[in-house]
Amino acid sequence: MPRSTVARINLDALRQNYRLACDRAGSAQSMAVVKADGYGHGIAQVAKALADDAPRYAVACLEEALAIRSAELRQPVVMLQGVHAGADLDVCRQNGFEPVIHGRHQLEWLGQAEARPPFWLKVNSGMNRLGFRPEELNDVMARLEAMGARSGLLGFMTHFACADDVDSPMTARQTASFEQGTAPWAGLMRSVANSAAHFHPGQSLFDWSRPGIMLYGGSPMVGKTGPELGLKPVMSLEAPLITTRTVRAGESVGYGGGWVADRDTLMGMVAVGYGDGYPRHAGTDTPAAVNGQRIRLIGRVSMDMLAVDLSNAPGAREGDLVELWGPTVGVDEVATCAGTISYELLTGITSRVPREYR
Ligand SMILES: *Cc1c(COP(=O)(O)O)cnc(C)c1O
Repeated sequence: MPRSTVARINLDALRQNYRLACDRAGSAQSMAVVKADGYGHGIAQVAKALADDAPRYAVACLEEALAIRSAELRQPVVMLQGVHAGADLDVCRQNGFEPVIHGRHQLEWLGQAEARPPFWLKVNSGMNRLGFRPEELNDVMARLEAMGARSGLLGFMTHFACADDVDSPMTARQTASFEQGTAPWAGLMRSVANSAAHFHPGQSLFDWSRPGIMLYGGSPMVGKTGPELGLKPVMSLEAPLITTRTVRAGESVGYGGGWVADRDTLMGMVAVGYGDGYPRHAGTDTPAAVNGQRIRLIGRVSMDMLAVDLSNAPGAREGDLVELWGPTVGVDEVATCAGTISYELLTGITSRVPREYR
């Protein structure tokens, strides 16, 4: 018998979240961002579940784009980081992948390619990771003309640095810089919005939005959980109680002995740990749930197990499933307790944990 530790994936919830993204995108269309193995949910299953709704997918790299074709899906796939070698442009062309060109070296690869895929240009409007500055675009466009590559250009995209904070002036500044910089080529498509931008009142999303984390029910906004934004939890991480015992007042639990019982405490060991991707930085008082009751972690998370305080759930027995996150305990809550964001928790679930789809 395998241990019953599992990540249950609710594909209906995923579809509902995608539809919410489309509603919020208004007249813009939404490409489903399924990079990093569908944010840890399984790229093939996630992409298939969205196949009737999503007109385009977006991934980081070529391997991920190929995984979508292996799942026999035919939609165009945007490669957000473009190619890592000129020769890959031909693979893109043959497969209907749309690389993003974000730097001079990629532009030159495009010039040298015999046959070119359709592509996007990345504009650096202030994030300063990748892309051409707005004032460079004239020059880039001239270079594309000179290479005979201009006709393959689908449009422009940029990425926001601070969209998780509605009060930051950065998003408006980036939007204005992008809009002005790309204005001379009004016939081409434009894309700016990550999940967070879907929740900015009045934000222009242009032609294509790029929702990622919101599809998986994680919150893109600081200080708000996914459910508070109308998102449905998609992944439920569950693991069995493998033992229960009473630790006596004054005794500690687990490595380091940092948590000490102040009274006799009914506790349980749960078969999940950082070897499964549960965050080691989630400390005492991080929430979990068993049989619908909220409980809390105590002591340090180990590689293969962690300890919970069962004072709130005295009826819990060996074999009962503990929800580490899911419908009762939000992944955003756990992320906050671990000093990180839901993106890292969801993408961090390791291959030891089977995914079950519903
Ligand atoms: C990952 C990514 C997205 C999606 O971001 P979320 O915050 O998960 O919605 C959109 N655009 C680009 C360029 C990305 O790399």
